[in-house]
Parts: sequence; structure tokens; C-alpha cells
Amino acid sequence: MAFEGLSEKLSAAFKRLRSKGKLTEADVRQAMREVRLALLEADVNYKIAKQFVNDVTERAIGSAVLESLTPAQQVIKIVNEELTALMGGEQSRIRYASKPPTVILLCGLQGSGKTTHAAKLALSMKKQGKRPLLAACDVYRPAAIKQLQVVGEKAGVPVFEQGQGDPVKIAKAALHHAKDHGSDVLILDTAGRLHVDEALMDELKRIKAAVEPDEILLVVDAMTGQDAVNVASSFNEVLGIDGVILTKLDGDTRGGAALSVRAVTGKPIKFAGTGEKLDDLEPFHPERMASRILG
Ligand code: GDP
Repeated sequence: MAFEGLSEKLSAAFKRLRSKGKLTEADVRQAMREVRLALLEADVNYKIAKQFVNDVTERAIGSAVLESLTPAQQVIKIVNEELTALMGGEQSRIRYASKPPTVILLCGLQGSGKTTHAAKLALSMKKQGKRPLLAACDVYRPAAIKQLQVVGEKAGVPVFEQGQGDPVKIAKAALHHAKDHGSDVLILDTAGRLHVDEALMDELKRIKAAVEPDEILLVVDAMTGQDAVNVASSFNEVLGIDGVILTKLDGDTRGGAALSVRAVTGKPIKFAGTGEKLDDLEPFHPERMASRILG
């Protein structure tokens, strides 16, 4: 599971703090050096790690903490609160359109888990009583359309496709289809590339202009660490995103992306993918995630 290394290192640092009873400013600074190292080893962006440690230290070396009866406990509580804040504080939900269908554009690099997560999202919405429609706008790989049909069938959600035509026209046609057939959510699966390139961004911009999505969600692979965060920054700058689906958090990822995405891009992680099965999708709760990291 993600965060194992980080959790272990943090808990070792906090154990040393707890064993001290009374704490000095130097004790706190030493512990925070260990926290900073643990964050860097978990692949957290170095500026974020530095800022994080500065924020915690500033709050922790105040007299209210050091002179309290349980200073170590207070420091850990501050770390917990700051970790939660780093990931956005509150859970960030999907914004449904006041007039359906809600249009959700999924984008991301190839292999990030886009198609799988289109179906996961559709399935979770279906379970909430919604009537989602999936649309195949990844026209470059014939296998991609087939793959969406396969996962759509597994999820019991209809899939709109027009073969390998123009993805902008397909997106528009899918929107008409959703309206005509009473689908209240339209999830567009778009083409991924091996890296962020102009053609990919241009196509996404044209789809965005054509269907005016309520949510643009970027799917990023947590295993790629800082690269995931860089990808999120690029997509946000060029396309503007509303949130991130962070996938493969079940793997042996070091977890840095989960901690950095929000702080670097300003955009929240809305969902976490935790496996290959279609119900391996969790709404992202910063507070629960912080508690999980702190063990
Ligand atoms: P796309 O190219 O972005 O559409 O990516 P796919 O949806 O085809 O996923 C790429 C691979 O990652 C597939 O083998 C998926 O089964 C796998 N995958 C997707 N999401 C997850 C996840 O949350 N956890 C794990 N372990 N594997 C995942």
C-alpha cells in the first residue's frame, strides 16, 4: 500500500519525540528535519516539503505547545492538521450541473488509468441512482474504443461511440445522445499520449470548447511521483482542470503525488483509484488520508 515508507519514518521520528517528555525547540527542529527527509524520500516536491516543515515548526515551537503537558502529542496533532491542509482540507466533490446532463471530461496520459476510471466513475454514479453515459473520444487506438465498451458493459453503463471519426464531433454527438436519451451524466474518455504535447492539448481544448464540460478531471498515475505532479501542472496551465483522479494508490507508490498535487497546482484530488477492479474507487478525503499516513 502507498505511504508505507513515509508512515514508518514519521512514526520513528514521533516515537523519539514522545520518549522525551519535555521538549525543547531543538528537539522539535530535529524531528522536523526527519519529517522533511521522510517527505522527500516519499517523492514530495522539495519546495512543498520545505514549506510544510516551516509551517509546522512555526506552530510547534510556540510556548503553548512546548509547555503543554503532552508536547509530543501536540506536535503530532499539528503535523496531522497541516498534512490535511496540504491536501486541500475538505473533501472536494463533483459539481453536478443544475441542468443535466453533467458533462465530465476525462483527460490524461496514456496508461494513467483513464479508461478504467471512466468506467469506475460511471459505476459509482450509477450506484448513486444516476444514469451515466460513457463516450469514446479516444479515436487513435481502435483498441481504446473496444476497451471502453468492455469496461462499460462490466459496469452496466451504455457506451456511445462513432468509431475513429473526429473526436470533437463525437463529443458533440455524445452530448446530443445523452440529452435525447435522458442520461444525466456524460463521461468523455479522451485520447492519451505518452507525454504532454501540443496536438493532444489542442484537441482537448477543442473538445472543451465544443461541449463546455462541468468538470475537467485529469487522471494521473500516483506511481509516477513528481512526474504526476508536473503533468497536472501542465494540463492545468494549458487546459484548466477542476480536479485530479489519482490512480494506482494501491501499488507500492511512495505517495508523494498525493501530498503535492494540491499544493503545486491549486487543484484538488477528487478521487483515488485503489485497484484494477471497477469498484476500486474512493472519494479522496484529505483528513482520512493524513490519518492513514500518520498511522
Ligand atoms: P489509459 O491508457 O489511461 O486509458 O489507462 P487504462 O485504463 O487502460 O489503465 C492502464 C492500466 O492500469 C490497466 O492495466 C489498468 O488495469 C491499470 N489500472 C488502472 N487503474 C488502476 C489502479 O487504480 N490500480 C492499479 N493497480 N491498476 C490500475
